[in-house]
Amino acid sequence: MNILIINCGSSSIKYRLVRAGRFQSLVSGIVENIGTDKARIINEHKGGKRQYRASLPDYESAIQKISELLSDPEAGAIKDKSEIFAVGHRVVHGGEEFKSAVIIDKYVLSRISFYSRLAPLHNPPAVNGIKAAMKIFPDIPQAAVFDTAFHQTMPSEAYVYALPYDYYRRYGIRRYGFHGTSHRYVANTAAARLKKPLTRLKLITCHLGNGCSITAVRNGISVDTSMGFTPLEGLVMGTRCGDLDPALVGYIMEKEKLSIEQISQILNSKSGLLGISGISNDMRDLITAAEEGEERARLAIDIFIYRVKKYIGAYLAVMDGADAVVLTAGIGENFPQMRTRLKRELKNLLQGTPVMTIATNEEKLIAQDTFELVRVAGKR
Ligand code: ADP
Repeated sequence: MNILIINCGSSSIKYRLVRAGRFQSLVSGIVENIGTDKARIINEHKGGKRQYRASLPDYESAIQKISELLSDPEAGAIKDKSEIFAVGHRVVHGGEEFKSAVIIDKYVLSRISFYSRLAPLHNPPAVNGIKAAMKIFPDIPQAAVFDTAFHQTMPSEAYVYALPYDYYRRYGIRRYGFHGTSHRYVANTAAARLKKPLTRLKLITCHLGNGCSITAVRNGISVDTSMGFTPLEGLVMGTRCGDLDPALVGYIMEKEKLSIEQISQILNSKSGLLGISGISNDMRDLITAAEEGEERARLAIDIFIYRVKKYIGAYLAVMDGADAVVLTAGIGENFPQMRTRLKRELKNLLQGTPVMTIATNEEKLIAQDTFELVRVAGKR
C-alpha cells in the first residue's frame, strides 16, 4: 500500500511516494516555478535523478505531471494511480480547530481556507494543492497534517500574549507554534532511543533549519514552543529575527520611513543570520567565513547559539528539568560544534542530560498519520 505525500509552497510542490509499513521512499521530487515559463521537475527514484522542463500553468497540471511520473515504468513503483492508498497533505495552519490530522472533506477544506487569514503565505497554496489533488485522484482519500496541531496542547499561560485579552477572542491572536510534525517525530524517536515511554519523558526538541524553533515536550505533548502567532518569533533564523523588543518595529518604521509590508520584509527576509553577518543566511557559509576571520560571521553564529541556549534554559525551568535535549534539521543535524558548545556551556544546568542529534523526517510522520487515519476510518 502506497501513500503519496504532497507539500505545496507558493510556487513549488514537493512530493514523495512511500510504501506503508516501513515507509521507504519509492519516488520523490519537487516541481518548481509553477505558473512561470521556468517550470521544471526534479524527479528521483531507484533508477536515478532526472530533471524535466514542462509547461505547468497551475497546481492541477503540476499534480497531473507528478501522477504520471509516479507510474513511470522506469521507477518500478506503481502501475497506475489506483495503487495509491491515500494522499497526505502538509498544511501549515489549522488554527485552534485542528488538534491532529484529519481526513479532508468539503468542510475541512473550507476551514483550511478560512485559516489563510492566520497563514496568508502558506495555507492558500495548500488549498490549491488539495483541490488539484482531489481532481486528479478523485477516488483516493486525502488527509491534512497540520504544523500547528502538535502545539494545541499548550496551556493558556504559554499561548496567551500579555495583550488586551479581547484580541485573542476577536482575532485569534495567540501563540500557535509551528514545525509541529518535526518536533513530534524527533520526540518519538528520542523516546525509542532512550528506551523509555514518551509519556514519561521531558524533552527539549530544537528544530534548527532555515526556520528554527524549540519545543518543551512533557509526557509526549507540547507544553511550550518558541514560534508564536507567526513563525517569526523565538530563535534567530536564517533570515528571520526571532525575539525583539516590539517597540523597535515602530521605531525602525519611523527612522527608515517604512510601510508595514517593508518592515515585515526586513524582519522576515533581511534579518537573522543574514542580517547580522551581512554575508549569508546559510550556516555553512558563515562557518567558512568565521574560520577565515570574518568577525560578523562569528558574531552571527555566537548570537544564534546563545539564543538556543537561553531557550533551553527557559524550557528546563518550564518543565523543571529534562531527560534529553534533541537537535534536529539542517543545522541541528550537521553542525557538531553547536552540540559541543551547548554541552560545555550548559554543563551545570544539564547535569548529564544527554544532548542528542536526531535526523527529522516530517514526511514519514505525515505518511504514518495519513495511513492510520484512512485505515481507521475504513475509507479503504
Ligand atoms: P529547511 O528548514 O528549509 O528544511 P534545513 O533543515 O535543510 O532547512 O536546514 C538548512 C540549514 O542547515 C542551512 O542554514 C544550512 O546552512 C544548514 N546546514 C546544512 N548542512 C550543514 C552543515 N554541514 N553544517 C552546518 N550547517 C549546515
